[in-house]
Amino acid sequence: MRWEFGRKSSNVEDRRGMGVSAPIVGGGIGTVVLALIVAFLGGDPNVVLQSGRNSSDRPASQSTRTAPPPANDRMATFVSYVLADTEDTWKDLFRQNGSNYVDPKLVLYSNAVESACGYAKSAVGPFYCPRDQKVYIDLAFYQDLQNKYHAPGDFAQAYVIAHEVGHHVQNLMGISGKVSRLQQQVSRTEANQLSVRLELQADCFAGVWANHGNRSRHILEAGDVEEALTAASSIGDDRLQRQAKGYVVPDSFTHGSSAQRVRWFKKGIQTGEVAQCNTFAATNP
Ligand SMILES: [Zn+2]
Repeated sequence: MRWEFGRKSSNVEDRRGMGVSAPIVGGGIGTVVLALIVAFLGGDPNVVLQSGRNSSDRPASQSTRTAPPPANDRMATFVSYVLADTEDTWKDLFRQNGSNYVDPKLVLYSNAVESACGYAKSAVGPFYCPRDQKVYIDLAFYQDLQNKYHAPGDFAQAYVIAHEVGHHVQNLMGISGKVSRLQQQVSRTEANQLSVRLELQADCFAGVWANHGNRSRHILEAGDVEEALTAASSIGDDRLQRQAKGYVVPDSFTHGSSAQRVRWFKKGIQTGEVAQCNTFAATNP
């Protein structure tokens, strides 16, 4: 991906190296539920049950910045460029539609973070919280993307950001609100199907971004689309967040299949049209 010539976003909140207070009362339940979910998804529940993902964990009660961001901060810079590109793209697309795009914030954190949707550990993966309109990512996820999910490449990383920003777009368009209200009135199975459609639409929106970013700023290089498709087909859902007793509890465990994710990302990148991303109207999304 060609990104060095772009601009950096001013919407990145760097909370790396800042400790957060782990929830005290009832923390056990949230943690155990999360651990079960991670185990269910084929992950290592110890990642959740222990206080963090590695031995460099800071004490949970620490609340001030204790370490500066790493010296080689290319990854954070990259994320900032990608975010800026999504801002430019969506601002244009919203304007063409007569509406106003409000930039989301992107929070970089390490190990655990406090969001308006609750307390979350890195193990949940990157997520978007509609309550504070922020995307949360622990950059360690990109190591997993490369090593665990075998989806290397900078464009695969960009796709992850673009997918989360896609959830922000859904939020601004009122889609996620409508879906979560609907989910409360239907069966568990139907609610899951709605979650899948929401995820696939975020993939399609990520494709729409890539199409426009490339048209306006020529961001794509050979192999980039394949990188994103590999990522789309190999990572599980980033799991929508819902507040339950003050903790982040991922609520969608039924993800779109790899083929579905690839299909919708492709649809977005090929057409560049938001209207083509109506996963809710498709009989078989
Ligand atoms: Zn998602």
